[in-house]
Amino acid sequence: MKLIYTHENKIIVENTRNYLCEKGIESVLRNEYSSGGMGELSPLETWPELWVADSDFNKGKAAIETLVGEQQGESWVCIQCKEDNDPAFETCWSCQAERT
Ligand SMILES: [Zn+2]
Repeated sequence: MKLIYTHENKIIVENTRNYLCEKGIESVLRNEYSSGGMGELSPLETWPELWVADSDFNKGKAAIETLVGEQQGESWVCIQCKEDNDPAFETCWSCQAERT
């Protein structure tokens, strides 16, 4: 098995799992019940995780990239330099300002 996707929001992970299922890719959800344990674990370690069979990994990865692309949608304009940025960018490619 390989870890293919993780996110702090379980709903997003479940949506991703459903999407993979539609594409015919079986996945397993792990860490499903560990969120809410606010103790010593860092938040990252309690994120729900999606795991797939090794043979499905490349196909699943491509499907998730498509899904993420659909969710992020439109490009954005930097408030500092007014350049257009690709939806995947978190900071401006031109001046490195944070996306707002
Ligand atoms: Zn900029």
